[in-house]
Amino acid sequence: MDIASRPSEPSTNPETADAAVPPHAPATIRREDYQQPAWLVPEVALDFALGLEATRVEARLSVARNPAGNGSPTLRLAGDGITAESVAVDGAPHGAWKMDGPDLLVDLPGEVHEVTIVTWTNPAANSQLMGLYASNGMLCTQCEAEGFRRITFHPDRPDVLSIYRVRMSGTKAQFPVLLSNGNCTARGEGADGTHWAEWYDPWPKPSYLFALVAGDLVANHDTFTTISGRTVDLNIWVRDGDQDRTHHAMQALKDSMKWDEEAFGREYDLDLFNIVAVSDFNMGAMENKGLNVFNTRYILADPDTATDMDYDGIEGVVAHEYFHNWSGNRVTCRDWFQLSLKEGFTVLRDQLFSQDMGSEAVKRIEDVRILRAAQFPEDSGPLAHPIRPDSYQEISNFYTATVYNKGAEVIRMMRTMVGPERFRKGTDLYFDRHDGEAATCEDFVKAIEDGAGADLGQFRRWYAQAGTPRVEARMDFAEGVATVTLTQTVPPTPGQPGKQPVVIPLRLALFDRASGANRGEELVVLREPSMQVSFAGFAERPVLSINRGFSAPIALDAGQATADLVFLAAHDDDPFARYEAMQQLVVQHLIGLVGGAMLCQAERDAGREAIGRALEAVIGDPALDDLMRGELMILPGETYLAEQLAVADPGVIHEEREGLKAWLGAQLRDQLIALHERASAVPYGLSAEARGARKIKTQALVYLAAGAPEVAADLAVQQYDAADNMTDRQGALMVLAGLDTPLREVKLAAFHQRYAGNALVIDKWFSLQAGSLHPRVVDHVKALSGHPDFTLTNPNRVRSLYMAFTAPHAFHAQGGEGYRMIADLIVALDPINPQTAARFVAPLGRWRRVEPMRSALMRAELERIAATPGLSKDTFEQVSKSLG
Ligand code: ZN
Repeated sequence: MDIASRPSEPSTNPETADAAVPPHAPATIRREDYQQPAWLVPEVALDFALGLEATRVEARLSVARNPAGNGSPTLRLAGDGITAESVAVDGAPHGAWKMDGPDLLVDLPGEVHEVTIVTWTNPAANSQLMGLYASNGMLCTQCEAEGFRRITFHPDRPDVLSIYRVRMSGTKAQFPVLLSNGNCTARGEGADGTHWAEWYDPWPKPSYLFALVAGDLVANHDTFTTISGRTVDLNIWVRDGDQDRTHHAMQALKDSMKWDEEAFGREYDLDLFNIVAVSDFNMGAMENKGLNVFNTRYILADPDTATDMDYDGIEGVVAHEYFHNWSGNRVTCRDWFQLSLKEGFTVLRDQLFSQDMGSEAVKRIEDVRILRAAQFPEDSGPLAHPIRPDSYQEISNFYTATVYNKGAEVIRMMRTMVGPERFRKGTDLYFDRHDGEAATCEDFVKAIEDGAGADLGQFRRWYAQAGTPRVEARMDFAEGVATVTLTQTVPPTPGQPGKQPVVIPLRLALFDRASGANRGEELVVLREPSMQVSFAGFAERPVLSINRGFSAPIALDAGQATADLVFLAAHDDDPFARYEAMQQLVVQHLIGLVGGAMLCQAERDAGREAIGRALEAVIGDPALDDLMRGELMILPGETYLAEQLAVADPGVIHEEREGLKAWLGAQLRDQLIALHERASAVPYGLSAEARGARKIKTQALVYLAAGAPEVAADLAVQQYDAADNMTDRQGALMVLAGLDTPLREVKLAAFHQRYAGNALVIDKWFSLQAGSLHPRVVDHVKALSGHPDFTLTNPNRVRSLYMAFTAPHAFHAQGGEGYRMIADLIVALDPINPQTAARFVAPLGRWRRVEPMRSALMRAELERIAATPGLSKDTFEQVSKSLG
């Protein structure tokens, strides 16, 4: 996610936007229309006769009229792509049901009834991967957000909570392992080589948390003893042969369970916790009660196949899904507009956990980088929405960086303002007050307010307003007094032309230039459009360090002089602020170059040299650990740079950024070679020191590849050949993939051969080529799309080739070939997997922010997609909003 000066787009008028869409446009669901369910479903009993191509589902729903509902005698059960074979009410066949579109309607005379429905599904034909589907010969489910209705008819809304009893039977040879939520209560053998199992989950849950898995799996088993002394059985289920790659995930699970007890007072509440890894999955993982289902990429790791980043990803996602057991499952969401209630809070919880497990500073920097790369562009584009959206057509489109990552930042700000101890009082009250309920974001804020003793009145605007607030900070100095003037503006976003000021907590410090010390940090809270704060007693003009720790998710314009940034990059005692000063130094320089400012050669040179000296200091600073050094060496990304301009030329940004990198690589050649050599001597291990060494090793190569390509090619080949781990091997191959050297092909082929059959590593092989700096990436991607290992039916594989491709320069290749390829992908993938297809619309949707030639090409591709008959709701919504 990225930032900065937002263009003044004409605000989208919902009336005209609606007028532009065809009559078959999907209905818009609005938050303000929320109504209590007319019927509740206290109990659900499901009986599955499992088959890969035909599964029979008998659902017995105990339904009860909701006293708080509208009193309707009609029970409306949602369906999607299913038909009822039979419907019975209170045990007697019922003929008077009818369909209303995809939904099933039954009129019920009394207050409580039992409705039994038989449906059939074909899991093998389910390429959407929503509902019950087949993956590698096993059966599994994905029900969030609205997938349960693809299995059976049900209200399928998160405020209808039921106790589930599940029975399943199937061929023993095909499905030796039968899993569902809760505890296994009985199992046995049936006729003709079948067997069955019964599962019971004592905790009432919404249908989106239901899960079933059946297949030929083996478990890595362990146990965890909870704080109150209960023993919990832990299993991570994978395909035979993958057991040895589950140990890191298991450790992460046990660490998470312990951490949640200590940090949030949350104890696990069942005797069993199962995780299953599946290779066909739309997202990262899913928090089904007692039966988490994971994308294999967030479970499987060993040094030979997973990078340090993969290890961190696994730790974070295992923790995230585990933490959902309280933030999401025990307290769930009233409706899907409240998604950030569980996701924003759970992302914050997993971020705090990872901060505690590793380097707090580095984790914070990484999280801000993700926010800027993914969320800031979302917030300044046509798909901008508040963390609590007001409307949607397809809820799958709202599993966004805004709901997740900005949602986490918003809760983090509450924590910053009240302090960790009072924040904990607030979360304790929240869990206590809403346990077993389907709650709202407002319930959460109220609980923090009451528990922490804070006034969050105006703060609530963060939930309602989209757009990244922009804060301008200017410091005046006179007669020993430094006065900081802060001004905020929240930019207009589609449907929200006018904005109110928000509450912005800014951690701030002033540095004494001579001593390099500051006088302690203060928290300044900006509530008004503008304010001033003064600090007296300085002998000379101090240096301002503001938004330390990234205390607020804003775009900051501190208008700092290069000298001040150089000072902060070297001296700031807040690691994030130090990183930020380095970033800002580069941003100001590059934006000066690409933004049309008429810089003379002397100014260009001065800017470049300041960056060179700062980078040299970072490379040589003995006080820095290598993990942090590696962070400080990363240049701001092209998306983040583009975000600083109302309209950007991605080609020029790429050239200038690469030019700077090349200059730095050439200038600091010897230091970088020495750094690479020093780091290469550190043996493999998982210590911070060893990980830091691997990080800077590849960073050094990245600069050398630009500034001294022959040297880089040699060192990369050396690194590749000497590698005893994936981090080094992938880093080296990434650098080679961007270079025009014959060794490029050789090493890519060697890598493919070495890892043939290992899907997660072959994904890396695709990504490295699609995201490379090579001038012929477009051709490479085109060829790779026809490679025998490529398939549109596996989301990991699709993302590995095409998401990597949308990130860099090649997507914006002159002539629009990159745009055409992404549009072709969307059109081809939409009928197979609409949820994944729709995720590729956003890069094209940025057309208003791109120079006119490319802009027209991007827009034309969006129009071509829009004109495709039979588009899914998912893709339709994203494309029409992008054009609107
Ligand atoms: Zn989540």
